[in-house]
Amino acid sequence: MLGRESAHSCLHRSAKTHLDRQTLYFSDVPEGPEIRRAADRLGKALIGRTIEHAKLPYGTFIGREHLIQGQTVIDVTSRAKAMLIRFENGWTMYSHNQLYGRWTVNLVTTKNTMRRTLRAELCTEKHAVRLWSATDIDLIPTIEEPLHAFLARLGPDVLEAEVDSEVLYNQLVSKKCFRKKGATLMLDQRSFAGLGNYLRSEILFSAGVHPDDRPCDLPEERLRAWAEAIKNVTVQAYQTGGVTVPKSVAEAGKSRGEPRRTWRHFAFCRNERPCLKCATLIVRLRYGGRRLDHCPRCQTTHR
Ligand SMILES: [Zn+2]
Repeated sequence: MLGRESAHSCLHRSAKTHLDRQTLYFSDVPEGPEIRRAADRLGKALIGRTIEHAKLPYGTFIGREHLIQGQTVIDVTSRAKAMLIRFENGWTMYSHNQLYGRWTVNLVTTKNTMRRTLRAELCTEKHAVRLWSATDIDLIPTIEEPLHAFLARLGPDVLEAEVDSEVLYNQLVSKKCFRKKGATLMLDQRSFAGLGNYLRSEILFSAGVHPDDRPCDLPEERLRAWAEAIKNVTVQAYQTGGVTVPKSVAEAGKSRGEPRRTWRHFAFCRNERPCLKCATLIVRLRYGGRRLDHCPRCQTTHR
């Protein structure tokens, strides 16, 4: 079985995406922003369209095509790393790709060449939207989404419009979060839904928070900066397709001949390179085997 890092390098070799033609591959293990962008792409093909033909050849899906066939899709969105496709008759298709699921969007006239196990196929007049390999999938009444085992446990979804820096500040100082390390909090979907490994390093760098520091170690001003970084870095990653530095910084990195994985971030994957703010070397740490890159000078500990 592929480890996280192996899966990462395999995905990294995958092609870029384009609606109608390509598989929705990502250049990295997808985090909240990548899933939301995938939801946007699926939405372009599905929202306002009628499902002319559906195939649901997996587990509890079997025999339930009639629930969505002939129905119009009214919304496609994401919650953390889950995809939600909502139909006009009050049903929602829930799916979580974990590390191996894939969505594809093709014209119905395009010959399918995917060599994976089909889990769901939704065909409109023009497009065929398919889910491959994923096993965490279900059809649930839309009204019961908040009760779903995965969705019910999520903390505030950072990409949701109503989740602003005030909400995130209140979450940081909540009893649940106040005594947990930044490194732990920034991956905990029950505390902040939609964050992942690159966002963790980038948010902590942007806020100047040491990964071992807990909200209870920090002055209010730093906590406010942390809450704003959670929102701003994640929204920027969503808008730019995973770039967490300003355009000018990205361009400077490219002109130095750096690969995408380093020019697109301030800290993550820039270990052993000079910090772009203070020139101190970025240092790699591991928490639970997962990489966290930080600047020892920009992110001094308060403990
Ligand atoms: Zn620095």
